Amino acid sequence: MKIQSLSYRDPSISPEGPTTTQPLDPEIARVNAELVEKHGQLLYDATAAEILDWAHEHAPGPLVVTLSMENTVLAELAARHLPDADFLFLDTEYHFPETLEVADEVQARYPDHRLVRAKAQLSRAEQDRVYGPNLYLRDPGACCRMRKVEPLAVSMSNYVGWITGLRRADGPTRAEAPALSLDATGRLKISPLVTWSLEDTAKYEEDNNLIIHPLTRQGYPSIGCSTCTLPVAEGQDPRAGRWAFATKTECGLHE
Ligand code: SF4
Repeated sequence: MKIQSLSYRDPSISPEGPTTTQPLDPEIARVNAELVEKHGQLLYDATAAEILDWAHEHAPGPLVVTLSMENTVLAELAARHLPDADFLFLDTEYHFPETLEVADEVQARYPDHRLVRAKAQLSRAEQDRVYGPNLYLRDPGACCRMRKVEPLAVSMSNYVGWITGLRRADGPTRAEAPALSLDATGRLKISPLVTWSLEDTAKYEEDNNLIIHPLTRQGYPSIGCSTCTLPVAEGQDPRAGRWAFATKTECGLHE
């Protein structure tokens, strides 16, 4: 069936409302840049605990830990090393039910950390109405922009930096990811798991009896929205199941 795209809004135009992060206070931006300059290289191969302790000591304001709920390693590490940090989950409304269950379990297990659930400006139904059904199939870049990139950007206004679960082992696009860098707004982007392999993650989960996303045991080493994630064969690039129907390989959160 042919979709009548002419009657729908151009997906390159987001709905009215905030889509970007508010500018950082210039003094904090200066401190952040200095920290990256001074410590970026030193932290490149540091352990997760070292990186998070460093963040707790040096960040010039509140930090937020981004959680995809694919695993809960970052939540556990933050509970141990970053007691004041908020948790942030991008609720795209396209998640697997199992992912939402993990989010609820995280909230219950780590009550001292506020869990922010960032949502797109339009609900899934509203997006279908305004941009046409199944935008993720026709223009996954626009769908990710409106449901992930922009909500993350808006939520980031309250923080001087964010903690990500990036691992160099996640695939060729991430092979040289730094542990500490500045994002485009001058906020600290801190990735304590950069040196971890999938096996390291699994071992930490087991050793610490963490909440496990059940699909990671069913052929989904990398989990995004249910509509855009397929299981992968053993030995395949762990992210090969993401947007397998398109040439897309990243959601845009780490550009
Ligand atoms: S992963 Fe798919 S459904 Fe989720 S926001 Fe991106 S394109 Fe949309």
